[in-house]
Amino acid sequence: MKRSLNSPLTAQEVERFIDAKVPADRRSCPRCGVDRWNLSQGESGNEMLGLSILDERQKQVALYPAIVFSCENCGFVSMHAKQTVLNWLEEEDT
Ligand SMILES: [Zn+2]
Repeated sequence: MKRSLNSPLTAQEVERFIDAKVPADRRSCPRCGVDRWNLSQGESGNEMLGLSILDERQKQVALYPAIVFSCENCGFVSMHAKQTVLNWLEEEDT
């Protein structure tokens, strides 16, 4: 099933992506070394997390959608481009 950048991903899909792409010995937090991450994607299906792209008046003109993890121990924030995760899920489905 083809999904858009607006489609929320399940925690299981994100977990499968990380399992496939990130070696087990590289999953701990680069700041504190603890391997406990919280996943944030926005609170509802209509919200999307990412990096805001602003114009010169600080008005948001675009969003770079991202899957956002925060370290449960120290709060370090780590992001993966949502498009890359979607591309991988699509390949996995075929
Ligand atoms: Zn940490």
